[in-house]
Amino acid sequence: MNRVRIKDKTFEVSAPEAEIKQRVKELASQLSHDLQGKKPLFLAVLNGSFIFAADLMREMTIPCEISFVKLASYQGTTSTGKIHEVIGINEDLTGRTVVIVEDIVESGLTMQRMIETLGTRNPESVRICTLFFKPSKLKADITLDYVAFRIPDDFIVGYGLDYDGLGRELKDVYTLVPPINNKMKNIVIFGAPGSGKGTQSDKLIEKYGLNHISTGDVLRAEIKKGSELGKTAQQFIDNGQLIPDDLMVSILASVYDSFGREHQGVIFDGFPRTIPQAEALKQMLSERGDQVAAMIELDVPEDELMKRLLLRGQLSGRADDNEETIKKRLVVYHSQTQPLIEWYSQEGLHHHIDGLGELDRIFDDICQVVDAL
Ligand code: AMP
Repeated sequence: MNRVRIKDKTFEVSAPEAEIKQRVKELASQLSHDLQGKKPLFLAVLNGSFIFAADLMREMTIPCEISFVKLASYQGTTSTGKIHEVIGINEDLTGRTVVIVEDIVESGLTMQRMIETLGTRNPESVRICTLFFKPSKLKADITLDYVAFRIPDDFIVGYGLDYDGLGRELKDVYTLVPPINNKMKNIVIFGAPGSGKGTQSDKLIEKYGLNHISTGDVLRAEIKKGSELGKTAQQFIDNGQLIPDDLMVSILASVYDSFGREHQGVIFDGFPRTIPQAEALKQMLSERGDQVAAMIELDVPEDELMKRLLLRGQLSGRADDNEETIKKRLVVYHSQTQPLIEWYSQEGLHHHIDGLGELDRIFDDICQVVDAL
């Protein structure tokens, strides 16, 4: 069993039983050697160390004693930072060799406090033996004499260690598997020119706090600036043609990265427009550990598209919204872009929306898809 689920979290084996057993044996042998003739008193810190302490004790080859103390400083997966009183030391520690047995040392503040408390009882020496140690979390000025495993700052469970009281019975030690980023909603909004991609994107941005990449807007901004890219793009756009894929893909990656790593998702509007672009998008996202969550197709009949684009041409003055160029753009759409419906269907990401009718009804249909992601 490589993975276990405890409450809302998934954990994966990080220290298998056999490895723990081996390390416990090695520590016991080291302790038996170092403390020969001292009859050490183990003070095992409850609850987490009870299994470790029992196994350690059974591997000892010299006479020793054990007692259990209690102090709690954990709740859930994070340290509360609170250090409680040490309770349960009934033995006379005068002149004794004491070994604190702990399951895990992080900040070390608990151990520091314990050493101070024990110090008032005149022991000969106090040593610390811990199963796990997170060096990157250490704050206290303490020496850990015996450490079985040095580990990174991950939450672990099993072999006596718990997550909210559960998981102590597990024979192996497991590390928390970080949840995948389900919150990131990368959405391809898809459709012919004039299908309403830009309008619906604006509404999605407002409702879901998503970022927006409109490759058409990016290109128009470059044309306005008069950049080299703009000059190249202008000729293609005026002809109703697509800009070459490699150029579009390089633009896309840099805009995507400009949103940083913590964004809620991106709406891709006007990209991809060809199968190579869809493949490049998939590759670019997977290199970053991300993915497309849905492709939403706005389906609008051709005569309606023509009407909308001619009207937009009159209102906005967009040069490519004239009848001749629109016709070319629609031909390009059918030949190069429409095959993406099949491509995304095979990826299991395609969602069809009737793009004809009330704007708000169309938006509600889109939201149903987005909410279910
Ligand atoms: P749009 O505003 O999305 O209708 O795009 C306007 C024009 O920009 C298109 O007709 C293409 O010439 C060009 N364009 C926009 N996005 C892309 C893309 N992903 N691939 C190639 N050309 C594009």
